[in-house]
Amino acid sequence: HGKKPLLSVRDLHAWYGESHALHGVNLDVAESETVTLLGRNGVGKTTTLRAIMGIIRKRKGVIDFAGQDLIHTPLHRTAHAGLGFVPEERGIFATLSVDENLLLPPVVSEGGMSIDEIFELFPNLKERRNSQGTKLSGGEQQMLAIARMLRTGVKLLLLDEPTEGLAPVIVERIGEVLATLKARGMTILLVEQNFRFASRVADRFYLMEHGQITASFPASELDQRMEELHEVIGV
Ligand code: ATP
Repeated sequence: HGKKPLLSVRDLHAWYGESHALHGVNLDVAESETVTLLGRNGVGKTTTLRAIMGIIRKRKGVIDFAGQDLIHTPLHRTAHAGLGFVPEERGIFATLSVDENLLLPPVVSEGGMSIDEIFELFPNLKERRNSQGTKLSGGEQQMLAIARMLRTGVKLLLLDEPTEGLAPVIVERIGEVLATLKARGMTILLVEQNFRFASRVADRFYLMEHGQITASFPASELDQRMEELHEVIGV
């Protein structure tokens, strides 16, 4: 892919206290590309997203986002720069309604979607607009978490296992949403264990082991690498 990357990560290290979790991660995500990180539990996929976002402060290396070095950038500024992180636990306001969650986006920069655009993309959220976060299904919560980020004018979506624990029909629906966002030019870095889902949306894959990227391949090679991946990832 000849395009200049929107996100370029070089020799990224990160620590939880004294515990060294990332050991020199290198990855690129081009504009409008969807890239998926694969790997066993505990290899550092979530940590990679958190370190890029700036949630983990003890880190070193280069994180270039659209020409800006984010390594010394505080969390609220990475959000302003156009990064949006949807954690595995989703992070919506449980006691607020869908409408209220959408009216309280984390940070607003230019290019955020209107409530109407959001409801066009997520018709099921419109039906549930007066329901509290706690009353939503897992799939609706995931969609609301993504929708909140779209309100902010995010340019790079960092999604941590968006299909975790969801029924196949909902996984399908989330796949459609990501395909729509991709068609509109959104750039996505995804952590995902569900190969079938990932293969539908990803242009490229990175494999992580022990806090490093150990393989990189295009989506077209997923099938031929399946056996190797099952061995390394064990799912
Ligand atoms: P999972 O899918 O289980 O989240 P992962 O590949 O995303 O796996 P990470 O969650 O990034 O892995 O964890 C990487 C390493 O950092 C693991 O050894 C984990 O135990 C450790 N770790 C994760 N979170 C913390 C934390 N808050 N404090 C200390 N160590 C942590």
